[in-house]
Amino acid sequence: VSSPVDVDVLVAGGGPTGLAAAVELGRAGIGVLVVEPRVEVLDDRPRAKTTSARTMEHFRRWGLADTLRAAAPVPVAHAQDAVFCTRLAGRELTRFRHAFALHAERRDEFPEAGQQVPQPVVERVLRAATTALPSVELHLGHTVVGARHHDDAVRVRLRDPDGRERDVTARYLLGADGAGGPVGGIVGAGDDGHRGRVTNLNITFRAPGLEELVPRGAAHHWVLAADPGGIVGRMDLHGTWWAVVHGGGTADPERVVHDLIGADLPVEVLATDPWTSRMRLADRYRRGRVFLLGDAAHLNPPWGGHGYNTGIGDAVNLGWKLAAVLRGWAGPALLDSYEAERRPVAAATIDAATAQESRPAVVFADPHLDEDGPVGDAARARVTAALVAKRGEFHSLGLVLGAHYAGSPVVLDDGSPVPPADLEHYRPSARPGARLPHHWCADGSSLYDHLGRGLTLLHTGSDPASGGLVTAARRLGVPLTLLEVPPATTDGVPLALVRPDQHVAWRGAAPTDPAGVLRAVCGALAVPDRPARPAVPIAASARSRP
Ligand SMILES: Cc1cc2nc3c(=O)[nH]c(=O)nc-3n(C[C@H](O)[C@H](O)[C@H](O)COP(=O)(O)OP(=O)(O)OC[C@H]3O[C@@H](n4cnc5c(N)ncnc54)[C@H](O)[C@@H]3O)c2cc1C
Repeated sequence: VSSPVDVDVLVAGGGPTGLAAAVELGRAGIGVLVVEPRVEVLDDRPRAKTTSARTMEHFRRWGLADTLRAAAPVPVAHAQDAVFCTRLAGRELTRFRHAFALHAERRDEFPEAGQQVPQPVVERVLRAATTALPSVELHLGHTVVGARHHDDAVRVRLRDPDGRERDVTARYLLGADGAGGPVGGIVGAGDDGHRGRVTNLNITFRAPGLEELVPRGAAHHWVLAADPGGIVGRMDLHGTWWAVVHGGGTADPERVVHDLIGADLPVEVLATDPWTSRMRLADRYRRGRVFLLGDAAHLNPPWGGHGYNTGIGDAVNLGWKLAAVLRGWAGPALLDSYEAERRPVAAATIDAATAQESRPAVVFADPHLDEDGPVGDAARARVTAALVAKRGEFHSLGLVLGAHYAGSPVVLDDGSPVPPADLEHYRPSARPGARLPHHWCADGSSLYDHLGRGLTLLHTGSDPASGGLVTAARRLGVPLTLLEVPPATTDGVPLALVRPDQHVAWRGAAPTDPAGVLRAVCGALAVPDRPARPAVPIAASARSRP
């Protein structure tokens, strides 16, 4: 391009995914412009409510976990289960405890439990976080209308709120513009996937007094005997609720809510939001300097609460890689690994959510559910037994924490077994590609709190010089934090390299070619060996014994 570059990264779309990418990049000091048409974040259509334990780990890394929890209107301690009932004021049939990894107490598997929090609250927290980052700019009321791709930059056309257009030249364009944005077309992402057959309805309502009727401890109430049946949860602790009904697209929302409650309470409908499930996986996530992430790249039905969380995972994965390339400590091939690592995770997520698409409330409806006596008892026993099929919707740590990048071109396989795919059960493993298993340190901090912003070299104390990797990192300009850990952290292997996203990139004994290891995990690192530079920050060893 003839004009100079205006910004390193232009992010089309300031939904949760685009804002998360801006936070990841902005924390590394990369210049980012986020372009978002919505000026205000409105509360009446909350959409995502489930923030997974994995997403909360990223919020913790960004220093935002406590901020998000404080902003969430319903604390984790208030409600942790998914309850199945006939109606809200009716009988409880069964419950899945600690659904969506909701725990009030500390767990070993993760430093942060899940959190129920409406999507607009998440977006406000992320907007505030981007505003606080000096290298990030948020252009609200502006829209991306097109882009032209060049070898060394992307020229992006923006429209301002008055309809005036101008071009901005960026080194990279991130399409976080959701299901209907224009960037997918620029990348050539393929067809629109397919849609569920029914139109569902989200309803936000007020029903003072409802809290007295419903069992405590439920984050989600599945109501089976109403027509249409659906899910209800609290938006806050002050009488505002959300409902999602299956196939209620044209129903009268007030009647629907009364039927879900099953008691005579005053109801005020605040907003409705009809929607159809969509299943879609982009054919490709990248064209040259343009990338797709979040709903722009993949869509799944909301069952299990994965949609926005998968987008945050994309943003983190692409964010640290772009920052590393732009900062010069990784080669451009690192960017090829983004699609290789994240597209299979989206495919697994779509599969898990689509399996639950065939199990909405109506499938478990039974005319005798609310009856007293043996006929009712038999119906309730039958339905409760059938509801076991819904377990994976509420317990999916195998996917949420166990998603791994074992086949990635920037992960060095050590030949150890790859944990088998298992939606429900998370099996900690420090094999290359996996998320580093978590533990608590003696001082109460999390192992993750000690990882650096570049690569972290874990060593088990046997070789503090760490197999030549420290010297090689200094020579290559790769930021490396050295961290002594108990042998169990690395499954007993003396050394492991951990990436900024907490995934293991390599592990082994002292390598014969330490620079080769670093080059491989940093995408072939085009820069030649340089003389040692004292400026490369290498953090002091932080001990993390549990
Ligand atoms: C009913 C329902 C319930 C859901 N429940 C859950 C749940 O419990 N858990 C969960 O994880 N997910 C859930 N989801 C999915 C979740 O809402 C989405 O996955 C999430 O919003 C995706 O975030 P995103 O930032 O990728 O896309 P979006 O939130 O769609 O953001 C895209 C942004 O791009 C902007 N944009 C559009 N066009 C342009 C343009 N031309 N230029 C610039 N910007 C543009 C839009 O204004 C928007 O802000 C649910 C979805 C629905 C419909």
